[in-house]
Amino acid sequence: VKMELCSLHEIIKELTPLLWADANLRGQSIEVMLDEEVPELLLNQKEIKQLILNLGRNGMEAMDEKGQLTLETKCGTDGVELYVKDTGAGISPAQQERLFEPFFTTKSQGTGLGLSLCLSIMERHSGKISVDSEEGKGTTFTVFFPFTQTDP
Ligand code: ADP
Ligand code: MG
Repeated sequence: VKMELCSLHEIIKELTPLLWADANLRGQSIEVMLDEEVPELLLNQKEIKQLILNLGRNGMEAMDEKGQLTLETKCGTDGVELYVKDTGAGISPAQQERLFEPFFTTKSQGTGLGLSLCLSIMERHSGKISVDSEEGKGTTFTVFFPFTQTDP
């Protein structure tokens, strides 16, 4: 896939109205916190859009009304972290182990392909994706973009 230097924040800003409309229908809110220090990154825009939409929609689907989805970026010394956080149902430890497997879903209409796609997208970006969740409290997905990227 084609990698270009682009602004992660521009991608997030482009997607915000879409996610906001979705959240609004559900009675949920969205908060976006962007770290000004985040530089341009070598990305495939289409793939990163898909990744953020997948994580955002999963978050919304895990919450009832009054839930809050947070998108946050943070610039570190060796890369940039993007957090997609929800105040939803959370995920049991047993399920956390299987989340990224293709076709793993707990939804009646789910494909179970969203997170396995996110994982392969981050492998192509020489990055990482991980989950941190507490049942009954919510879930945070952390996506890491390293500054030193090797060609995939
Ligand atoms: P799908 O959304 O089609 O089920 P995904 O690959 O996107 O497939 O997600 C797989 C499963 O991981 C979901 O069915 C759900 O059980 C769990 N999951 C993903 N994101 C969250 C989240 N933010 N909160 C709770 N469970 C989640
Ligand atoms: Mg999904």
